[in-house]
Amino acid sequence: MKPRPSLDLAGTAEFLKSGACKSVYVLTGAGASTGAGIPDFRSPGGMYDSLRPELITATEAQRKRMRMDPVNVVMKDMFFQNQFPYLEVRRPFILGTQQQQWKATLTHWFMRFLEEEGLLKRLFTQNIDGLDYQTGISPELVTNVHGSLARVSCEGCGYEMPFDDFCAQVRTNVKDIYRTDPTAPAESSNINCPRCNAPLVKPNTVLFGSSLPSEFFEQLDDLNGADLLIVAGTSLVVSPANSVVMYVAKDCLRLIVNKEPVGQDLGIRYGKDATRDVWAGEVSCDEAFLDLIKMLGWQDKVRKIKHLLPESNQAMVKDL
Ligand SMILES: [Zn+2]
Repeated sequence: MKPRPSLDLAGTAEFLKSGACKSVYVLTGAGASTGAGIPDFRSPGGMYDSLRPELITATEAQRKRMRMDPVNVVMKDMFFQNQFPYLEVRRPFILGTQQQQWKATLTHWFMRFLEEEGLLKRLFTQNIDGLDYQTGISPELVTNVHGSLARVSCEGCGYEMPFDDFCAQVRTNVKDIYRTDPTAPAESSNINCPRCNAPLVKPNTVLFGSSLPSEFFEQLDDLNGADLLIVAGTSLVVSPANSVVMYVAKDCLRLIVNKEPVGQDLGIRYGKDATRDVWAGEVSCDEAFLDLIKMLGWQDKVRKIKHLLPESNQAMVKDL
């Protein structure tokens, strides 16, 4: 019988320190990168919400689809018909990634610290921003459930294009619908695959209607050995990524770090009904992980990387 920690952040920290917790798995979503200022796609006021299909290179019928549901921008069938909605909407995000415009947050660093302590078995991330890697986390411990923006390949033939070569073409071939880059072309033109010549080259993000990377499904079974599952910055509504919470054993402690309690429909129980689920409360991911860092006595780890944190995090750690 495993010792049962108290179902709060302090209890979770105790469990992490106890030696009884040997195997930690993590699932992250957009909230992990909020502190980095990453442009948000789904929230009110985010990129989808402010989408202006009339500016996008597309037919009227395609624009109508985007107006009905902005997710059409990243739908597989739309991309095969017309690559510009995807490329034009994502242009600043692609080029910002190349320029390292965004910095890894305390939340990303916490995962690296878990690895340093020998506790991290796997990080499943739904984010495509690749910020996890800035911390030096071992790439083999990271699963990009929805693919990654920083790798580029052809949806037609699979040819892998160097990221910098692709970005150079995005800069010269894709117009700026946000009108912030005066050097962008007035009209968009195709970026053709150097191997098959089809205009299907794009970052390796998983399009809606495409299947997830096969390693994700293979790795789900490993979750059975988890002592602690941390779910951070995700509303747990996107399937099948959200199934991670159901693959852990029945007695695995689950820590939910999200401003609202989520996952009740997946069997997560809060408050007096909770038997093994912990909600970190109405705080941001970075605030919750900073609290955990203090409880774990990992302040020194943060002091060493303080200068690398985004501005929003700098204020939080200045007295550390
Ligand atoms: Zn190709």
